[in-house]
Amino acid sequence: MPAFPVPFIALLITTALAAMVFGGWLGAYAVRRWQAPLRNAWLRVRRFIAIPGRGSRGDGSLAEDLEAAIVRDELFLVHQPKMRARTDDVEAVETLVRWRHATRGLIGPNDFIGLAEERGEIRRITEWVICQTIVEQRSLAACGHALTFNVNISARVLADRDFAEWALATVREASGPIGFEITETAMIADPEGALRNIHLFADAGIKIAIDDYGAGLSSLAYLKQLPAHELKIDRMFISSLSSSHRDPLLVRSTIDLAHALDMEVTAEGVDSPAALALLKVMGCDVIQGFLIATPMPLGELRAFLDARANTGSDGIPLGFNWLRRAGDRK
Ligand code: C2E
Ligand code: MG
Ligand code: MG
Repeated sequence: MPAFPVPFIALLITTALAAMVFGGWLGAYAVRRWQAPLRNAWLRVRRFIAIPGRGSRGDGSLAEDLEAAIVRDELFLVHQPKMRARTDDVEAVETLVRWRHATRGLIGPNDFIGLAEERGEIRRITEWVICQTIVEQRSLAACGHALTFNVNISARVLADRDFAEWALATVREASGPIGFEITETAMIADPEGALRNIHLFADAGIKIAIDDYGAGLSSLAYLKQLPAHELKIDRMFISSLSSSHRDPLLVRSTIDLAHALDMEVTAEGVDSPAALALLKVMGCDVIQGFLIATPMPLGELRAFLDARANTGSDGIPLGFNWLRRAGDRK
């Protein structure tokens, strides 16, 4: 057997190692680059296959149906206006997902987001929500209403680096500002990963809101670390604002705390004129709740915004009606 010179063997090993490293890098790049297009293509094939009569159409378990909900176009978005307390202007909405099930009817997110998280469907749903939000935001802007759209980001995807990269690239295409609402409990599973992604989002100009503040394990340590722009006080503190002795104190001190940390405060679940009046006195920045408007599909949102722009028009939703009458009395 011929003896190979040592430099030749060294060159052989180096070439093999370089091929492994480059191959691995190329493979990882290819997976990242083609993952989304391939998944979309697969969804289109599935949609073609999922013609009526094939597969479970409402008669299977909710979990099975959830897997096909996107492909069957059963998810849709509603948007709840957020009103600036000082000016009564609506500058933003919170976007919320709904499921129109073929046989069970309308299903709210509280009844399927948890299921989606358990079944590993939440990333697909979140991505669908973000893409659809961008489409609807652009369509509303074309009608003369350029608003910020805030979407809810599940704890299950918050720390996912792949998701973060996808979200950053996708949100870059939006016609206006997109915000992400996260809960503090979303930080618990993987605080490092979640914080890294939240910083990436904030650096890219995505406004971060801390959702349901006060309902979970609120920690000053997290609050200080998060590059959040907005703090949303949970509606359990707002609903009894005018009847409880302690809640006004808690809300007032939370507003002061948030302002000290350079955050805006949104009150969630404002459903009475008394609560609105108190919140305005306390210096709350943004009001969200059934008093202003319930969550509504894009067409109704457009009508709602048109009606606000033109105070003389009829058919104004209830929340706005009340505000107009309140304004008339002034
Ligand atoms: P959230 O993010 O805190 O959204 C606010 C919820 O409060 C919405 O319920 C809204 O309809 C309700 N709400 C607003 N104003 C009032 C009020 O004055 N009174 C009362 N009683 N309720 C009010 P919804 O749409 O059922 O959503 C429930 C939760 O589901 C959301 O809470 C959010 O955590 C989650 N969710 C909704 N859409 C999505 C989504 O696209 N992705 C994820 N991951 N979660 C979502
Ligand atoms: Mg929210
Ligand atoms: Mg909330």
